Amino acid sequence: MTENVDVVVIGAGAAGLMCAAEAGKRGRSVRLLDHGKKAGRKIIISGGGRCNFTNMYAEPANYLSQNPHFCKSALAQYTQWDFIAMVDKHGIAYHEKTLGQLFCDDSAHQIVDMLLKECDDAGVKVQLRTEILGVEKLENGFLVKTSQGELACTSLVVACGGLSMPKLGATPLGYQIAEQFGLNVLPTRAGLVPFTLQPEQKEVLAELSGVSVDSYATAKDGTGFKEALLFTHRGLSGPAVLQVSSYWQPGEAVTFDLSPQESLIDWLLEQAKTQPQLTLKNALARKFPKSMVEAWIKLHQLPNPAIGQLSTKLREQLNTVLHQWQVIPSGTEGYRTAEVTLGGVDTNGLSSKTMAAKNVDGLYFIGEVVDVTGWLGGFNFQWAWSSGWLAGQYA
Ligand code: FAD
Repeated sequence: MTENVDVVVIGAGAAGLMCAAEAGKRGRSVRLLDHGKKAGRKIIISGGGRCNFTNMYAEPANYLSQNPHFCKSALAQYTQWDFIAMVDKHGIAYHEKTLGQLFCDDSAHQIVDMLLKECDDAGVKVQLRTEILGVEKLENGFLVKTSQGELACTSLVVACGGLSMPKLGATPLGYQIAEQFGLNVLPTRAGLVPFTLQPEQKEVLAELSGVSVDSYATAKDGTGFKEALLFTHRGLSGPAVLQVSSYWQPGEAVTFDLSPQESLIDWLLEQAKTQPQLTLKNALARKFPKSMVEAWIKLHQLPNPAIGQLSTKLREQLNTVLHQWQVIPSGTEGYRTAEVTLGGVDTNGLSSKTMAAKNVDGLYFIGEVVDVTGWLGGFNFQWAWSSGWLAGQYA
């Protein structure tokens, strides 16, 4: 038997929960489907279990997309302040960690509970552990075939996310539905993801696993981020690396300034005035962890003279390896650990005013499945909330 509802939302993640609640508030009968056991699984593990749910400074410039203008309408219609107002309404305590990033004081579960409460209050039926077997176009809507039966609806919202973290339920279903209905899907790749290193660098730098330093990381296109760089046993991570990874293409170099605040050459020359006998190694150990200085000397085959004897050539070499350290990653850790998926449903086929497909009545795409990807720092959830809210006004 086929059940009839107004709206089916596929994917009970961040965008789907928001959209379902909003459509429900308009009096639409809404069924929210997910193949997982729980709703909002990525929300629950996000931000180290505290969910970096938005960013106070979110604006279109914080997003990557083939059409950088596409996200503007959704972000303007449902802003970070609107989401913060919802969080306040539910009495959830939060704090700014850094750079406008807002986290729950207590637990990310509070955000999922809040969205489920909004859905419940709006009469949304959340149906988990439901496999989607196929979607068909009807004359006046869609037929969604599931492992729990068939649903006919007038609006179908695709909110099943990207490919990152398959163990949390990520599948390519959203892209497949887009292609089925003739929408273009742009090539996808892992974003906000650690880099792996070439064997010779990996061998030396693996000793630094766990060491974190300030840095300014710059991609080939000039986009740069001043945040921490973390050495891992497999390569490079930390916020600076995750951010710049979204702008990286295989084979390209990434440049790190390991002392973005101050010229180390000027500092060494200043130190040499009072302690000319101090060795380069001991001097640098005042600025960097000792293990890093050792690794740097080994990696770049630097001599270890007294700082009063630094030749012009060595100063130039130091400037290069400390302020313009170039790394060509061997790759990334891939979708297994990536926080997001770049690319996806081409925004050319969607209306930025409603998130609806331009050529298919009643079909909507929201959240990460769309070719809009945010920086690290709460921007991806804000896109999910904004695009989900917007589709919820029309679906
Ligand atoms: P998702 O939240 O991924 O939801 C998609 C839903 O669709 C899932 O519930 C999935 O089970 C379901 N689904 C998929 N395929 C199918 C199918 N075939 N059938 C049925 N259901 C299906 N962003 C931030 O802004 N702040 C953070 O702190 C943050 N931390 C993160 C930490 C980690 C480890 C990861 C992986 C991501 C993090 N992100 C963060 C990114 C953020 O989680 C995503 O951008 C956001 O969840 C995207 O929302 P969405 O609703 O589009 O997709």
